[in-house]
Amino acid sequence: MHEWSIAEGIIDSVLSFASEKNVKEIKEIMVAVGEISQLDIGIIDEAIKLLSKGTVLENTVIHYKVEPAVFTCRKCGSEWSFTSMKEQLENEVDVKIKDTGGEEDLPLHYLPGLIYIYMQCPSCGSRDFEIKSGFGVKISKIVAVVDK
Ligand SMILES: [Zn+2]
Repeated sequence: MHEWSIAEGIIDSVLSFASEKNVKEIKEIMVAVGEISQLDIGIIDEAIKLLSKGTVLENTVIHYKVEPAVFTCRKCGSEWSFTSMKEQLENEVDVKIKDTGGEEDLPLHYLPGLIYIYMQCPSCGSRDFEIKSGFGVKISKIVAVVDK
């Protein structure tokens, strides 16, 4: 699963940071997961816990936050957030996917590619835009004890 390779990537980055900086102990890390990244934080957390056994990350407290998705128009430079477009998209998109809890959700949550079909710049109407943030996963904070 995708989440497992993401977890491996997070562990690798933190471990190489730890060996570069002579880190004795990593107390906390903060992982920012993009709003439209399609990733399950629960699975990432489980994967990190299993894969970090025996490393300096073993007893680390891992915090997660959802990074809001922001888009930039390539034509006029406008910026907007996914949240601000959600209501409009809900009216336009008539395909809904039921999640396991029976809740209806926008398919965009599952298929970010659909964003390019349904979304357009709120200022100029262009569909030529880029996803500035909220797509991937990054480590936004590391709290560590350094050996001097
Ligand atoms: Zn625009």
